[in-house]
Amino acid sequence: MSSISSNLQAVNERITNAARDASRDRGGIRLLAVSKTFGAEAVIEAAACGQNAFGENYLQEALDKMAVVKAQRPDLLLEWHFIGPIQSNKTRPIAEHFDWVHSVDREKIAQRLSEQRPAHLPPLNICLQVNISGEASKSGAMPAEAPVLAQRIAGLPRLKLRGLMAIPEPAQDEEAQRAPHRRLRQLAEEIKGQGIELDTLSMGMSADLAAAVAEGATIVRIGTAIFGQRHYG
Ligand SMILES: *Cc1c(COP(=O)(O)O)cnc(C)c1O
Repeated sequence: MSSISSNLQAVNERITNAARDASRDRGGIRLLAVSKTFGAEAVIEAAACGQNAFGENYLQEALDKMAVVKAQRPDLLLEWHFIGPIQSNKTRPIAEHFDWVHSVDREKIAQRLSEQRPAHLPPLNICLQVNISGEASKSGAMPAEAPVLAQRIAGLPRLKLRGLMAIPEPAQDEEAQRAPHRRLRQLAEEIKGQGIELDTLSMGMSADLAAAVAEGATIVRIGTAIFGQRHYG
C-alpha cells in the first residue's frame, strides 16, 4: 500500500474515532485533503483511494495542477476548495475554477467573487474566515465583525454562504485546542440566531483534528497527515 493510501486510511480512522468519542455521526464530517505543494500525481493517487475534495492555497499552483489532473484523468469528478489568502486582483480565476472558497474575510472579496462567478456554474460555496485567536499576523475577520459580514455575504447573488472557517493558534493540550474551535461554533450559532442558514464549520488540521471534531467541525482540512511534510521551493 502506498503511503498516501495508508495515510488516508489512518486519517479517516482518526475522524471516525473522534466522531465516536463526541457521539457524532461520522457522515456529518467531510475530509478535505490539502494538496498544496504536492503535484497532480499525489491528487490522482488520493482520488484512486476515494478522496474527492482537495484544498489549495496558491492560485497559480492550483490552476496548473487542476489542468494536469483534468488532462490525465478527465473521468475524475473532483471538488476543489480554495483555502489560501486572496488578493483582490486574483478573484476571477478563483470564481471560475473552484467549488468552494474558505478564506473570504472581507466584503470586497465576496462582492468580486459574486460578480465574477460564471452564470453556467452553481453558486460558489463560501466560508467566512474568522481570526478566532485574535493573532495580529493572521488573516480572517475579527469575531465582532463576523455577524455583519455574514449578513452582507448571504445577500450576494451567485454565492452560497455555508459557514465559518478558522485556523486557530497552535496549542498542545486538548482543552487549549478545543477553546478556539468552541468559540467559532458559538459565533456560528450567534449568526444562525440572526436567521442566516449555516451548515459548515471548516476547522481542524493535522495537529488538532480531534479537538475540532469534538467542537463540531463539519469539514476538516488535512495536509501533512495525508501527503507528508511540505517542502517549499
Ligand atoms: C496548509 C493548510 C492546512 C493543512 O495543514 P496541515 O497541518 O498540513 O494538516 C489546512 N488549512 C489551511 C488553511 C492551510 O493553509
